[in-house]
Amino acid sequence: MYIVCSTLPFREKALPEALRKLAHLGVKRVELCVEPHHSIPEHWKESPEQILRLVNRLGIKVNSIHVPLTQEPSKISHDELQRISTQQTQKTIDLAAFCGASFIVQHVRLLGNSMDLRQPPILAGIAPNLKEAARYAATKGVKLALENVPTSLARMLGANPKEVMDVVNPLPPETVGICMDVAHCVASGYDPLDALDSIDIHRLVSIHAGDNFSNQLIDQHLPIGSGDIPWEKLFDTLESHGFQGSFVIEVAEGEEKGKALTDSLDYLRDLDRFVPTLKASPMLDSRMPFSGRARKEVKGTADHKSFSKPLVTNT
Ligand SMILES: [Zn+2]
Repeated sequence: MYIVCSTLPFREKALPEALRKLAHLGVKRVELCVEPHHSIPEHWKESPEQILRLVNRLGIKVNSIHVPLTQEPSKISHDELQRISTQQTQKTIDLAAFCGASFIVQHVRLLGNSMDLRQPPILAGIAPNLKEAARYAATKGVKLALENVPTSLARMLGANPKEVMDVVNPLPPETVGICMDVAHCVASGYDPLDALDSIDIHRLVSIHAGDNFSNQLIDQHLPIGSGDIPWEKLFDTLESHGFQGSFVIEVAEGEEKGKALTDSLDYLRDLDRFVPTLKASPMLDSRMPFSGRARKEVKGTADHKSFSKPLVTNT
């Protein structure tokens, strides 16, 4: 299992600064967070090539990229909304392939009144077009990981993790899986351990890890260890299934910038399941002790065609 840090805690910073801060904390793998100025090259002052050079210089790897949430434009048809969303997903897949990231994290939007997903065909009532996105992702060697959401996110699918499973099921397992956000589970009233039981764990690509309080039903990304998520039991469950995917620390910062992340890292370092060298080292290793064989490193594939247009402003 790979320990990864989302750039979310530093989402107000420009991407290069966020990456430098993470590298300074010893982070080896990052997920570019959902914010457009971290995950859409058009929002970067630097070119993707420059970002990739920076990442290499800092000794970190772009593990995954979170597709930004598209605003629902008013007065357009559902077909058009699905088309725009699919295009955004394809752009993120291009970026992931360019950076050598192995998967993208995708929220699924419900179109129109398609709340009743027991009615087939499920895939017609959501955006992006997942069949098309999966086909495209397969050509680029990138996976899609569909994320469950907190109940508060209206018009999004997957407050119930089982719903995400229902959407993933008809899609190719080699390309489409699940990103289980445990804080979102709690915010929707689900026990993360029950949620893991309700899905095919072989389709689990990634865990989004932040803490939360089960009696509050609100979406919080608190430091790991500060809420009531049973982390030890969660790791035991993942270990028992031989989970080899990513464990992405996705915490939001409060007043003290960087503290939520350092507190989370400290909590993980203190767990007995970490290898002794990890506990002694100021640098965060990328693997947990039960990770088994190391996964093959994927280098940036430099698909420059995707980024041929000039990249200008930073917002
Ligand atoms: Zn998440």
